[in-house]
Amino acid sequence: MYYVSTRDKSKKLTAAQAIALGLSRDGGLLTPETLPSISEQDLVALKEMNYQDRATFIMKLFLEDFTKEELDSYAQKAYSMEKFDHQEIAPVYTVDQITHSLELWHGPTSAFKDMALQMLPHLLSASLVKTEEEKTVCILVATSGDTGKAALEGFRDVDKTKILVFYPKDGVSDIQGLQMQTQEGNNVGVCSVFGNFDDAQTGVKKLFSDVKLREDLENRGYFLSSANSINWGRVLPQLVYYVSSYCDLVKKGTIKQGDLVNICVPTGNFGNILAGYYAKRMGLPIGKLICASNSNNVLTDFIKTGIYDRNRQFYTTMSPSMDILISSNLERLLFAMSNENDTLVADYMQALNDTGKYEVNDTIKSALEAEFYAGYCDDAKTQVTIQKMWTENDYLIDPHTAVAFDVLEQYRNETGDNTQTIVVSTASPFKFCDNVLGALGVTDLNEGVDILDQLTEKTNMKAPAPLAELRNKTIRFEDSVEKEQMIDVVLDMLK
Ligand SMILES: *Cc1c(COP(=O)(O)O)cnc(C)c1O
Repeated sequence: MYYVSTRDKSKKLTAAQAIALGLSRDGGLLTPETLPSISEQDLVALKEMNYQDRATFIMKLFLEDFTKEELDSYAQKAYSMEKFDHQEIAPVYTVDQITHSLELWHGPTSAFKDMALQMLPHLLSASLVKTEEEKTVCILVATSGDTGKAALEGFRDVDKTKILVFYPKDGVSDIQGLQMQTQEGNNVGVCSVFGNFDDAQTGVKKLFSDVKLREDLENRGYFLSSANSINWGRVLPQLVYYVSSYCDLVKKGTIKQGDLVNICVPTGNFGNILAGYYAKRMGLPIGKLICASNSNNVLTDFIKTGIYDRNRQFYTTMSPSMDILISSNLERLLFAMSNENDTLVADYMQALNDTGKYEVNDTIKSALEAEFYAGYCDDAKTQVTIQKMWTENDYLIDPHTAVAFDVLEQYRNETGDNTQTIVVSTASPFKFCDNVLGALGVTDLNEGVDILDQLTEKTNMKAPAPLAELRNKTIRFEDSVEKEQMIDVVLDMLK
């Protein structure tokens, strides 16, 4: 199986080449040429496996240039009990008779990004060996909070890699900020950027397309790669938990093999829900894909109208990892829905770049309508949802997950569809204590890490160990720069 750019499919790359490169030189996203399928028999076999073996099985379908033994060893390391605090890695918690929460935050940084970023470093360093790359890779990350910490943890002290993370100064929670500022490891750098997530992301994209910088770094023995969800090595591990959660529901007897389930995903850059879409195309029995946004509802409008328009107000919300106006991974969806029409996708992306706007053709519009439902939830409703979920279901959720639960309710009210639904829970509530406590009626909040104790007191739930340990960590990174100065930070780190 080969990988091609969504903007030019004439050049074919191996999986290792695609993962080592991260982003195609033409600005497109590297994507498998065709999707493999999962048969009913595969699902029967997968049902009996643990998470690690399920991961190997699914990834092997896409990574022909990797052996099963290699993938096995990565899965053992990435999803070990040292890193995760739950035996099942991605457990499914049943909230009520038709609603199930897929908890993707039992990893080292308490958010779903760990699911992919514990795996990516293994895939990447093996890809570098396979492509006979001699230079050191420097991973550049723009993050709205969760990716940064998860990438830092995944890559820390991994041989022949460096990692540099930029985050928007006012776009992350206290705990998220502290997690990054206290990062340990000898190959890591962290810097905040004045502005919002799009400023940080645009800045990083600019660095990637800077030819002069690339030459400079090459002379110094470095090349740049990405851990953002545009890297195929990020999307692929996310396919696993959709398959895994389906198998778990069959195993529990909640559904029968072959029954459809809906999935509802709190969405930002469109990487998570894209993996769900791919899983469906591969044969996993998924009905509707419910795309949940916060007040930055550019995707809600897009899915409803076929018009993507980023020219709108940007809101800083209590679900910061979804504060995004340009959802990069949507490009892969357009590629799939247009029958891999690279010219068309390139045109849309050119229009997005020139005018901030594009409108898809009727084929894509009908595909969007058939596959997706979209809705959004503002901060006030997010808080109400957290509170309701806690009092009515004894289930504590973070603001991102709350957005999804609210949009699911909208969907059910509008359509009357009571299909079994998997809601993807993307962060531990302890990562966003301030807003969760606010939702539970606590207004006088403790400073810094002490806020964790407050949430414990209120709910009797224990904070995840890596968050509780922040208390004893030293701050190592405090710099902030304008986005024009990001290049200096890179040059300074890669001296
Ligand atoms: C990254 C993130 C999201 C959004 O996921 P995308 O793949 O960018 O759509 C949602 N919730 C949390 C907690 C996240 O960290």
